[in-house]
This record gives sequence, structure tokens and C-alpha cells, in this order.
Amino acid sequence: MPPSFHILDEDLEKYTSERLDPARASQLRFHIAQCTTCENKLVNAVIAKLGNLGGREKREHRRNPADGSGWLQTVCPLSFDKAQVGIIDASSTGYGLRTAVPLEPGTIVELGIGAKVLVGTIRSCERLEDAAYRVGVSTARSA
Ligand SMILES: [Zn+2]
Repeated sequence: MPPSFHILDEDLEKYTSERLDPARASQLRFHIAQCTTCENKLVNAVIAKLGNLGGREKREHRRNPADGSGWLQTVCPLSFDKAQVGIIDASSTGYGLRTAVPLEPGTIVELGIGAKVLVGTIRSCERLEDAAYRVGVSTARSA
């Protein structure tokens, strides 16, 4: 898609429900990497989707108390896997996570901690001594 065109709401909706075809999904990712407007639209679409799922999923997540671990799923680029992560630290603006794989700064993620599901952006990633990574996620987005 030409860079002067923003992503269609329809495509964003399909993307967040994991129904967009792979070719268009890769165009969408390419555009979002360069366009803050569409990045924000994607984040808002994901937050809206989480809000819609809220009632049903909350009960399920409540079984896991916040015990220093959580899960992380990348939204852009989209992944279907929920990876287990360790919580190293938490602040008012985000979390420090311990992950088994490196994550690119700029990656948009869903982060599940206890009963909460948050949307955030990877801000930093550094290798720890023992083949794990410390990833900084900013979750200071207004819903
Ligand atoms: Zn755009």
C-alpha cells in the first residue's frame, strides 16, 4: 500500500481478530512500523478488543494470582503464542520482564499479569547472563 494511505479500519479489525490474510498483514506491519497514527489506531483497536473480551476472560485469569510471572503475546508483529514471562520489576509506566527470546523495541504486545491484560510497547531489550533477556515494556497508554 502506498505510504500516503493509512490503514483501513476494516483491515485493522481483521488483523486484531487474526483474520487478515498474510500478505495484507505484512503490509500492515510495514506501514505501522513507520506511522505513529496507525500504530496508535492499532493499540486502541487491541484495547477495544480486550474490553469486549473482558467479561468472559477475567474469570479465567483470576485463577492465576500475580505471582511474579505472566504471559506475553506480540500484537504487531502478530503472534498466536502466549509466551510465559517473569516480572522483574514494575513501575507506574511499565514493567521489566524476563523472557526466553529477544523482542525488538517498537513491538506492540499484550501482557497478562494476574487478572489484568495490558497493551504495551517494547522499549528496550538486553541480554542477561544466562541466555534470557530483560525486556522493558511501556504500558503507559491511555485506554
Ligand atoms: Zn498510517
